[in-house]
Amino acid sequence: MNSVEPNVIPFPTIRRFPAYLRLLKDLAGNGKEWISATTLAEDLKLKPIQVRKDMACTGVEGKPKVGFQVSELILAIEHYLGWDDTTYAALIGAGNLGSALIGYKGFVDNGLRIIAIFDKDRRKVGRQVGGIVISQLEDLAETVKELKIHIAILTVPAEAAQSVAEYAVASGIKGIWNFAPKSLNLPDGVVIQKTDLATSFAELSAKLKASE
Ligand code: ATP
Repeated sequence: MNSVEPNVIPFPTIRRFPAYLRLLKDLAGNGKEWISATTLAEDLKLKPIQVRKDMACTGVEGKPKVGFQVSELILAIEHYLGWDDTTYAALIGAGNLGSALIGYKGFVDNGLRIIAIFDKDRRKVGRQVGGIVISQLEDLAETVKELKIHIAILTVPAEAAQSVAEYAVASGIKGIWNFAPKSLNLPDGVVIQKTDLATSFAELSAKLKASE
């Protein structure tokens, strides 16, 4: 397998990687060893040219007639995404959204494991969600260090997001997956990924209206 230079893979390709992985793992589970770009394209409703370009980004070379080796593609994509090593995360804000994310089994399949939960609500501290005891926020730094956690998943209300994010960074967190509907201002070097459900819904509504 050739090594892949991380910076050269475009984001749209990276966003398609999880869908490729799901399909490839299904195929591997059914004992399929090889897959053509055309079949991948059909199954994922993509253009074959697009799939060929995406596959080129993985560094895996296809063979004439048989296509790509399924196991090699899985390894290459997982390696690129860092999903061959489990990433440990702390979730901050054990409300409705946070609890739903804790219960989502798909993260584990994709190498993300939430191993600690924090909340400022004293009534919640000590309770369990998904088998994990909710801790007080003041324990974040110690837990981050002890359990080598790099990522925090932020599911606190918008008004708390900035201060909680700053606290998380001061506690040693390097990457923040922000589900709060609030843009964060953090020092350079902290990686922020925003997933704003309200914005997604606004987009859906606007598209629906435009299609009427
Ligand atoms: P609930 O009503 O059970 O609290 P919710 O989803 O409506 O659920 P939100 O107001 O969205 O609650 O808050 C999400 C969670 O974030 C709550 O558990 C809340 O206690 C927690 N939270 C709020 N502010 C902070 C903060 N500064 N630090 C840590 N957790 C916080």
